[in-house]
Amino acid sequence: MESFFIPTKIIFGLQCIAENHSLFRSLGKKALIVTGKNSAVVCGALDDVLEALKAEKIDYVIYNGITENPTLDSVEHGRNVFKEEMCDFVIAIGGGSPIDAAKAIAVLGINNMRLRDVFSPCFYDKAAPLIAIPTTSGTGTEATPYSVITDVKWHTKEGFGAPCLFPTISFCDPKYTLTMSDKVTRDTGIDALSHLLEGVYSKKRSNLLMPIIAKGIELVFDNLAAALDDPGDVDARSAMMQASLYGGMAIAHTGTTLQHSIGYPVTTEFGVSHGLSNGIFMKYIMQLYHPHIATEIDEMLYYIGLDREEFYAWLNEMGLDDEKLELSDEFIKKAVPEVMNSRNMALNPMQVTEKDVIKLYRDVRK
Ligand code: NAP
Ligand code: FE
Repeated sequence: MESFFIPTKIIFGLQCIAENHSLFRSLGKKALIVTGKNSAVVCGALDDVLEALKAEKIDYVIYNGITENPTLDSVEHGRNVFKEEMCDFVIAIGGGSPIDAAKAIAVLGINNMRLRDVFSPCFYDKAAPLIAIPTTSGTGTEATPYSVITDVKWHTKEGFGAPCLFPTISFCDPKYTLTMSDKVTRDTGIDALSHLLEGVYSKKRSNLLMPIIAKGIELVFDNLAAALDDPGDVDARSAMMQASLYGGMAIAHTGTTLQHSIGYPVTTEFGVSHGLSNGIFMKYIMQLYHPHIATEIDEMLYYIGLDREEFYAWLNEMGLDDEKLELSDEFIKKAVPEVMNSRNMALNPMQVTEKDVIKLYRDVRK
């Protein structure tokens, strides 16, 4: 039995907020806008949202304190603002960090629960309505029921998922991604590719998703280099935003695997971006999985006209072979149990051992 479920209304295309602002109306009278420090302003999305709210006579308050790898403390702050200001819904503008934080704020804003219980979806089944406005093309969080939050106190980065975490509406306007730096463009594009590949790797892979996954991978291969060559190439940006959305749709059903969990300790320990920490391991994860799901991987690569060696060469062209890490034995010893205990490990295409994880860390060591 296979199923497909994405309850989010997705509006995709240039000027999609200006042309659809009546959709904001049904969500309430006051919005909490959640953003990072700069990008929502720089890319123009905040201005478009403020215009839309003005047109719909909706009041708002802005919380712009979300950092990369959003923290539980910032989520707590956002929840307090949501409650004190008596907001009805949340509007998240940004990359995955503000959108994930906003998902957690939307849960904590309307449920009476302890902060850390947000990591345990058995404690809740509803959230305030959420509008997601992605400004990167990578996480796909605009179409997933997941959020990933860092708990500084426990030094962990943890993902959680619940159907109420799907955004109510996602406005995907590629023009917001034109201002991404080369590094953010490359790293987030590689994150989108990770999600698409994990749609193939995961034990929960589904035939219903394969056309979306294959198209998404093709879009990354045909457009990531173009977006890097010419950051103003709206067609390439649009294709990458579509690929990111498809990656989100895939992992919304299949979840992620070791490909994601192995990178979390690298991000928490060394601040390596989420996308890059996937990318550094991408070749080695494919090498580990290939003997177990050779047909699935080879068929997917055949669709985009590559064999595995050509795929690895493309990763190298994206600069990933040069991104080795200084990993001490002590770090590896600490990270391995964290990886082995992560929820994603249940979805690997085969049993992954501690030895495999240690080898992967050694593969990417300088
Ligand atoms: P991000 O952490 O949201 O943003 C990275 C950087 O890019 C920030 O400095 C941000 O600036 C900047 N930026 C964002 N959009 C920009 C734009 N249009 N122009 C210029 N700069 C821009 O990056 P992300 O890769 O999108 O999100 C990563 C997070 O998402 C990680 O925590 C990851 O674990 C999570 N994730 C979630 C899911 C899911 O399904 N929920 C899936 C994969 C990953 P500002 O700080 O000024 O905004
Ligand atoms: Fe990701």
